[in-house]
Amino acid sequence: MRMIMLGPPGAGKGTQAAILANTLKIPHISTGDIFRSNIKENTPLGVLAKSYIDAGKLVPDDVTVSIVEDRIQKPDCKKGFIMDGFPRTIPQAEKFDEMLEKIQAEIELVINISVDDAVIIKRMAGRRMCSCGRTYHIENNPPKVDGVCDACGSKLYIRDDDKEETVLERLKTYHAQTSPLIDYYENKGKLINVDGAKSIEETTKEIIAIIDKINEK
Ligand SMILES: [Zn+2]
Repeated sequence: MRMIMLGPPGAGKGTQAAILANTLKIPHISTGDIFRSNIKENTPLGVLAKSYIDAGKLVPDDVTVSIVEDRIQKPDCKKGFIMDGFPRTIPQAEKFDEMLEKIQAEIELVINISVDDAVIIKRMAGRRMCSCGRTYHIENNPPKVDGVCDACGSKLYIRDDDKEETVLERLKTYHAQTSPLIDYYENKGKLINVDGAKSIEETTKEIIAIIDKINEK
């Protein structure tokens, strides 16, 4: 199954992609990870991408698509893959389609995990971290004492990524650039919406049922 996970930041795309990859025995391709590994291994594409990043510029779509192309041609992707974090814009999706056509592959399924902004803000703004690695949530998984880690007694903090102004900014970018992909894949008949406000387990179950149904055809 070649699939793409879509959804706003904080919808749980990465979590679902990791669980599904494990269940379906296909790789979870996070674009952040493949960028980092290309840069770390000094591949020609990694060196090229780094030159843009170091200059404070956006990595051009052609470079990003080449990095993805290189990854999905690896032997572990023969049975499929789960793409997480790519494409992010319509031009990227169009370039991705051109590339897939070139290598005679096709995306079979796009899962859109939909969650209201208000739910995402509540979820992310409630996260608390500890320097020991423990994570909490003020509503779903609160520490015994407010603001203090159960395990080590350190003071909890909010990650920069979880601060409300950062979350609002990321949601704004998502709505402007990435949410148009929902229509793009819907028009191609590939998109299925999943309610991301449910629990992680329920959402996984729903996605597996969708995949089973497609595989039966
Ligand atoms: Zn701690």
